[in-house]
Amino acid sequence: MFQFGGVNILNEKIREKITSENLFKIFNRFIIPYLSHNERDFMLGLQKYCLEVVEPKIDPTRDVYYLFPILGEAGYMQRLYPYQDFKPFGMRYELILAMCLSIIDPELDLARVVSGVLAMNPLYSHGKSDREHKALDDLMAGRKIGCICITERERGSDAVNMQTQAIECEDGSGDVYFEGEKVFTTNGPVADYFITYGVTDEKNPRGTMYQVLLERGFKGLETKRLGILSVPRVHIGQTLFKHIRVPKNNIIGFAGEGYTNLFKGLVAERTTIIGSSLGISWLSAITGLIYADLRKQFNKRLLEFQAVSFPIAKMLVDVMAATDLGFQAATEFEKIARYPEKIDMVKYNAGFSSGTKYLASNLAHRISYEMQQLVGGVGYTDNLRIDKALEVSKIQEIIGGSRNIQILLVTQTIKSILKLIE
Ligand SMILES: Cc1cc2nc3c(=O)[nH]c(=O)nc-3n(C[C@H](O)[C@H](O)[C@H](O)COP(=O)(O)OP(=O)(O)OC[C@H]3O[C@@H](n4cnc5c(N)ncnc54)[C@H](O)[C@@H]3O)c2cc1C
Repeated sequence: MFQFGGVNILNEKIREKITSENLFKIFNRFIIPYLSHNERDFMLGLQKYCLEVVEPKIDPTRDVYYLFPILGEAGYMQRLYPYQDFKPFGMRYELILAMCLSIIDPELDLARVVSGVLAMNPLYSHGKSDREHKALDDLMAGRKIGCICITERERGSDAVNMQTQAIECEDGSGDVYFEGEKVFTTNGPVADYFITYGVTDEKNPRGTMYQVLLERGFKGLETKRLGILSVPRVHIGQTLFKHIRVPKNNIIGFAGEGYTNLFKGLVAERTTIIGSSLGISWLSAITGLIYADLRKQFNKRLLEFQAVSFPIAKMLVDVMAATDLGFQAATEFEKIARYPEKIDMVKYNAGFSSGTKYLASNLAHRISYEMQQLVGGVGYTDNLRIDKALEVSKIQEIIGGSRNIQILLVTQTIKSILKLIE
C-alpha cells in the first residue's frame, strides 16, 4: 500500500495486514452476492490489474494524470461504453470499476471519472465529426485528459441560467465564438479537451444553449488552478474563454441541443459518482475493520469494545444497503438507455439517481469521518488511507451537484408521482 511520505507509526503486524489485496478480499466477500458471474470475473480481473500494475506505479508525490494511459491500455478509463475489444461494458461494470479504483486510490478515480466518463459521455452520445471521434478515442485510451465546464462564478446550482456567451459567426461558416468564464473545472488546468456550454441568449438558455468541444491550444483558451486543498494530486481550475473561435466541427450540440444533451448526460455522471462514493465508503470501512481487529488497548482488541464494534457493524450494514441501491441505479440506467421514449421512466430515474448519489456520497463522508474517531490517531496520518478517503468524499458530495440539489431533484420527482392521484 502506498503512503504519502510521512513517518510510519503503524504496528508492523497491522501494517502487513492492511494491504490492498486484503481490502479486496474482504470487499469481495461482501460484494460478490450482488454480482453475476460475468461481473464477478470482470471484477477479479480488474483487481488483479490494480494490484499488479496500477498500485506499484502510484507515486503519491505526483499528480494522478500519468496513470491515465496505464488505465487506458487495459480499457479501464471507463467501462460504460464499448472501446476497442474491451468487454464487458455497461453501467454496472462502470460502477465496479469506480469502486475498485477508489479503494486503491480515490484521487485517481476522481480525476478518471471526470475525464473518462463526464467528458467522454457527451462525445460518445452526440459526437459526429472526426475531431469529436478523435477526442473520444484519446480520452478512452487515457492518452489525453478531459474536463467538463458547466459551473460559473455566479451560476453554480442554477447551472441552466449560464452567462457564458456563444456568439454565432456571421460569415456563414457555422462556427461560434465563446466568451466567458467557468470555475471549479476538475482536471481543467491540465486538460486537453473541454466539454463546454454557453448560450446565445441569456434570457432563453434552454432554447439557445450550445455544447462544444474546446481543445488545448485554441486561441483565447486559458486555464488557472484553484486552491483546493483536499485533493492535491488533482487539478481543479478556472477556465477562461477569451473570444475563442470554435470551428463547426467542434460543435457537439447546436443552439438548444446543448441544453438537452447537458441534462441527458447528468444521470450517467451521477451514477458513476455513486460508484466512487461507494468505493470510498468500503475503503474506510474495511481499513478500520482490519485495524480495529488487530489494535490492542487495555489488553483487548479494539473490536472487543462494543463502542467500537457496533458502529463498525452499522457502517457495514449501511454500505451494503447503499451498494445494493447503487447497483439498482446502474441497472435502471441501463434499462432507460433501452427505452428513452418512456418519459415517465426517464424522469423517475433522474430522481432516483439523484437520491442515490446524495445517499452514497454523504455516507462516504460519514463513514470516513466516524472511522477516523474509531481507529484513533493513526487514522489521521497517511499510514492508513482513511483521511485521504475523507477528503475525497467531500468533493464527491459537491461534484455533480451539491447535496441540496440532489434532494431538490428528488422532491421534483415526488411531485410528479403525486400527480397520479390528483
Ligand atoms: C472540488 C469541486 C470540483 C468540481 N468539479 C466541477 C467540474 O468538473 N465541472 C463543473 O462544471 N463544476 C464542478 N464543480 C462545481 C459544483 O458542481 C458546484 O460547486 C455546485 O454545483 C454548487 O454550485 P456553487 O458552488 O456555486 O454553490 P451555490 O449554487 O451557490 O449553492 C450554495 C448552497 O446553496 C444551496 N442551494 C442553491 N440553490 C438551492 C436550491 N434551489 N435549493 C436548495 N439549496 C440550494 C446549495 O446546495 C449549496 O448548499 C465542482 C465543485 C467543486 C467544489
